[in-house]
Amino acid sequence: MLSVEEALRLVVEHAQPLAARRVGRSNALGRVLAEDVASDIDSPPFDRSTVEGYALRAADLTGGVAELRVLEEVVAGALPMMPVEPGAATRVMTGAPIPAGADAVVMIERSQLVARGDSAERVRIDEPRCSIGQNIARRASAMRVGQIVIARGQSLRSVEIGLLAEVGRDDVMVVPSPQVSVVATGNELVDPAVKPNLGQIRNSNGSMLAAAAAECGAHVLPPQTAHDDRDTLRHILGPALEAADVLVVSGGVSVGVLDLVPATLESLGVEQVFHKVRAKPGKPVWFGVHRSETRTRLVFGLPGNPLSSFVGFQLFVRPAIRRLQGRSDLQLQETTAKLEIAFTNRGDRETYVPSRMGVDQHGATIRPVGSTGSGDLASMARADALMRLPGGTRTYEAGSSAAVLLLPAGIGS
Ligand code: AMP
Ligand code: MG
Repeated sequence: MLSVEEALRLVVEHAQPLAARRVGRSNALGRVLAEDVASDIDSPPFDRSTVEGYALRAADLTGGVAELRVLEEVVAGALPMMPVEPGAATRVMTGAPIPAGADAVVMIERSQLVARGDSAERVRIDEPRCSIGQNIARRASAMRVGQIVIARGQSLRSVEIGLLAEVGRDDVMVVPSPQVSVVATGNELVDPAVKPNLGQIRNSNGSMLAAAAAECGAHVLPPQTAHDDRDTLRHILGPALEAADVLVVSGGVSVGVLDLVPATLESLGVEQVFHKVRAKPGKPVWFGVHRSETRTRLVFGLPGNPLSSFVGFQLFVRPAIRRLQGRSDLQLQETTAKLEIAFTNRGDRETYVPSRMGVDQHGATIRPVGSTGSGDLASMARADALMRLPGGTRTYEAGSSAAVLLLPAGIGS
């Protein structure tokens, strides 16, 4: 049986970033940039004032105080008409271009008008430490024409979307979001809208896996369900595979008589890459690829138990979906924390324990949420992390250090 690490390596090897595509700026959020984006302008485009005040010559203020003639007032968006000569100043608003001749701006708070009326306005400036360039944002100090401002490989957040607008890019080449199909299998499943009868169970995995895929940036097709018989499975899995870059199936991958998913997938031309991983929960995970002339599709069979399904998704499906998007941060973020209470792990598989992070005077702490079994989604909802323990029966004392995988905090995380 493969270790989690070996299995993950196989998944990543088979998942290649999707072909780049041009999209409009408003559809680029969360995508990875597939080209370098250069600025078509200098920014700021001209020397401009960062404050409201008086543009003047710093040399006029060597004495710390000066009375200057006010030439004009320039608001943002307007142009100065007069050069600033010795003994003169121009009132400028934030964002206004600096008039020729001026080399500093003194904030309005350090000024007082001394005469108003038909004759020239005069202002008294009291600024003991006026230096050349103060309160002026120089042309091209933030970026210059031709400079690469967002590099290929960067994922686009709201700030980058704004920067694309600033440099006049209406569209960009990005790695698209993969299409993901989710199929939940099991004769016992009923729709969440239905109250289950004896022996039945609500299909929670369909919704959960679809949400988990969306959370890591995929475009998810409406989840489907299938009964455990070969014909139904073929009938549902075939088109679901056809429609997607990644097919995620829940249930039917263990060793029961109704666990028909691997055989059905293989009959649809999906080649098995691995089945079963030394992980607890998540052991029955199945992974295969379907190759056609145009693309390779990835197929995951996750165990039906909701916690196993969830952990299997986070360990293997998430990295695949992230890689298809061209991202380099594939796995859940990892850290270490000190156990708040003693915990005994049994068995020889690497174990993932739903847990909650905390903090004490020494730093991060971790406490298992105490789930009653692999169907206990209610306990999972209290967890924000998975504590990872190596295989081997052992008691970990309170205060011992453990590896922790942080669960996604929401969409795009
Ligand atoms: P399986 O992996 O198909 O053997 O399923 C194992 C158990 O997981 C089943 O007996 C159900 O209790 C549960 N289960 C399977 N599929 C789902 C699902 N879609 N939603 C919630 N629980 C499920
Ligand atoms: Mg089943």
